[in-house]
Amino acid sequence: MRRQNRVEILGIGVDSVNMVEAIAIIEEFIANGKPSIVVTADASGIVAAQTDEHWRKIMEDADLVTPDSVGVLWAAGKVGSPLEERVSGVDIVEKLAELSAKKGYRLYFLGAAPGVAQAAANALSSRFPGTVIGGVQDGYFSAAEVPEIVARIREVKPDVLFVAMGIPKQEMFITEHMNEIAAKVSIGVGGSFDVFSGNVKRAPKFVQNLRMEWLWRLIQNPRKWRKVATLPKFWWLVMRSGRRA
Ligand code: UDP
Repeated sequence: MRRQNRVEILGIGVDSVNMVEAIAIIEEFIANGKPSIVVTADASGIVAAQTDEHWRKIMEDADLVTPDSVGVLWAAGKVGSPLEERVSGVDIVEKLAELSAKKGYRLYFLGAAPGVAQAAANALSSRFPGTVIGGVQDGYFSAAEVPEIVARIREVKPDVLFVAMGIPKQEMFITEHMNEIAAKVSIGVGGSFDVFSGNVKRAPKFVQNLRMEWLWRLIQNPRKWRKVATLPKFWWLVMRSGRRA
């Protein structure tokens, strides 16, 4: 069930939604009950989809694809369909934790290093008392452990499954298991648990306002260099496709 209002960036459809609209759509998925998947798309994911067929198909078939990076916003402007704002995994997790406290949505946290998902869940529960935590599981497990993990999540009947194992591993896990797990909506949320657990600090507001959060995160996490290294390619592909259009 894809929205009509999409922006095509290098052949990948990104939904033209702001934060409020994205949350309203996610709440529709919860009300509807049929397992849905939300992808938060950044520039490196769109670059990867140019050569990885499986990943491209996942993005194409996703129920909602949100613009999760400054690069995606820039590219949308470049193709003449400006997007209003970033709709990031971190912001989605935070908003749904708040709504869980108000409406009772049951959340499951899957991913990140041992202890981090629990720390993130604890931090959000103390910020939004009443948040319903269905369970937590770290994101470092073997293939042999998958059936048991899937069964455990299914048993809890989550409304929302957050999967924080990085793009595209998290989305591959979701598409492979979403029907069996039967969470109403599953969302790939990247490094979000590290942010809420306090492992990684979010950039101060003024850095976010300068659209420099990527640089802040990069300095904190050298592993991210590989991702940033795809940005010149993204820029080049977008510029080239603009000239051809
Ligand atoms: N991670 C995981 N299992 C893995 C590999 C990574 O749970 O096998 C976690 C990692 O601990 C981190 C998150 O996935 O919490 C990825 O964070 P990153 O910020 O790199 O993801 P991005 O937001 O850039 O996709």
